[in-house]
Amino acid sequence: MPELANRLKTVKVSASAAMTDKARELRDAGVKIVGLSSGEPDFPTPPHAIEAAHRAALAGDTKYPAQPGTVALRKAVQRKFKRENNLDYALDEILIANGGKQIIFNALFATCNPGDEVVIPAPGWITYADIVLLAEATPVAVPCPENNQFRLRPADLEATITPKTKWLILNFPNNPTGAACTREEMHAIADVMLKHPDVWILTDDIYEHLTYDGFEFCTIAEVEPRLKNRVVTVNGASKAYAMTGWRVGYCGGPKDLIAAMNNVHGQATGGICTVSQAAAVAVLDGPQDFLKERADIYRDRRDLVVKLLNQIPGITCHKPEGAFYVFPNIAGCIGKTTKGGRRLETDADFISALLEEQHVAAVPGGAYGMSPYFRISYATDTDSLKEGCRRIAIFCEGLR
Ligand code: PLP
Repeated sequence: MPELANRLKTVKVSASAAMTDKARELRDAGVKIVGLSSGEPDFPTPPHAIEAAHRAALAGDTKYPAQPGTVALRKAVQRKFKRENNLDYALDEILIANGGKQIIFNALFATCNPGDEVVIPAPGWITYADIVLLAEATPVAVPCPENNQFRLRPADLEATITPKTKWLILNFPNNPTGAACTREEMHAIADVMLKHPDVWILTDDIYEHLTYDGFEFCTIAEVEPRLKNRVVTVNGASKAYAMTGWRVGYCGGPKDLIAAMNNVHGQATGGICTVSQAAAVAVLDGPQDFLKERADIYRDRRDLVVKLLNQIPGITCHKPEGAFYVFPNIAGCIGKTTKGGRRLETDADFISALLEEQHVAAVPGGAYGMSPYFRISYATDTDSLKEGCRRIAIFCEGLR
C-alpha cells in the first residue's frame, strides 16, 4: 500500500471505541457481555425531534445546508445560550457542526501551528489530544488528581502554561471522571487565564445537563465575561437529548474565530445534515423537563455503582458530581494475578483480563491519561450495572 500521512502515526484508535468493538465481536460470537464502556445515553431520542426531522424531510428540506448551520438552528442555539448560560451570541458568533467533536476539530485546525501547546486537564477525553496531534500541535496534560476530587487546581494550571500555549481545554462535568467545577473554582481558573491574554479557551460543556444533588453547572464565559472574546463555548445534542447518531454539535465564540472555523468546516463537510438540524431546533426549543427526570435516573445509577464498587476488595470509587461515568481506583489490584493466571501490571491488563474472564467491557484509565483507574459508563440499565459490578466483584475476589 502507498504510504499514509506522517500525522496519523501519532494518533491512536479511541480506547473506548476499541473496547466497544471488541465487546461487540465477543457478543456476536455468542458471549454474554456486560457493556459498560460506551459513553452513549441508553434513552431514546425524544419523539418531537424525530417528528420534526420527518416533517423537514417531507417539506423538501433535503438540499445542501447553509454551511455554518441553518438560521433556524443558530437562532435556537442563540436562545439556548441566553436562557441556560446567560450568554449573548450574535448569529455570526455561532457555528453548527457534526457533533461537538467536529467543533473541537474545527477550532484546533483553525488555530494550531506546529510547536503550539494545548493544555488539557488529565484525566481527559482522549479525543482532545488526538485532534491536537492531527493539527500538528502538542498536547500538554495538567493533572487533576483524585485527592482533589479530579478537579483542576489553579496553581497546576498556572504552572502548565508556557509562552507556547495556544489553548486551554476545559471539560467539567468531565469524561472520564464525572468531576464538575464549582463557580468559585471556575473563578479561580478564570483569574489564571486573565493573566494569559494570548491563550484561547475551549470549554466542552457537553455534559452540562448531567449534574446531580443540586450541583450547579457553570461555564467560563459567563463566570468571567472579560474572557468571552477568547472563549469557544461548545455543546451539542448528543448527551443531553440522547441524539448521538444525529451528529449535532454547536458553539458560540468570537466572530473572527467562528469565521475561520467555518472555513475549515466548509472544506471538510460543507455543513451538517438538514433533517438533523430540524430535529435539534425541536429539542432546543421544546420541553426541557425530561432532562431533570433523566438526570435523576442517572443519579440513582451513579449511587448504585459507587456503592457496589466500594464493596469490592482492591477498588475504591470516588462519587462524582456529574456526567455518566465513574472512575474507580484499582491500585489495590495491581501486581496481583487473576484466577485465569493473568498478571495485572497495568489498568490495561486489568481491563483486558476482566473482559476475557468475566465478560465485562470497560475502559482503562491510562487511555484518559491517569492510572491505575478504569472508566465505567453508567448510561445503561440497572440490571446491567448490577450484573457488571457482580462480575467485577468475582474477578477481584479471585485475585491473588
Ligand atoms: N465531548 C466529550 C467530553 C465527550 O465525552 C464526547 C463524546 O463522548 C463528545 C464531546 C462528543 O460529542 P458529539 O457526539 O457531540 O461529537
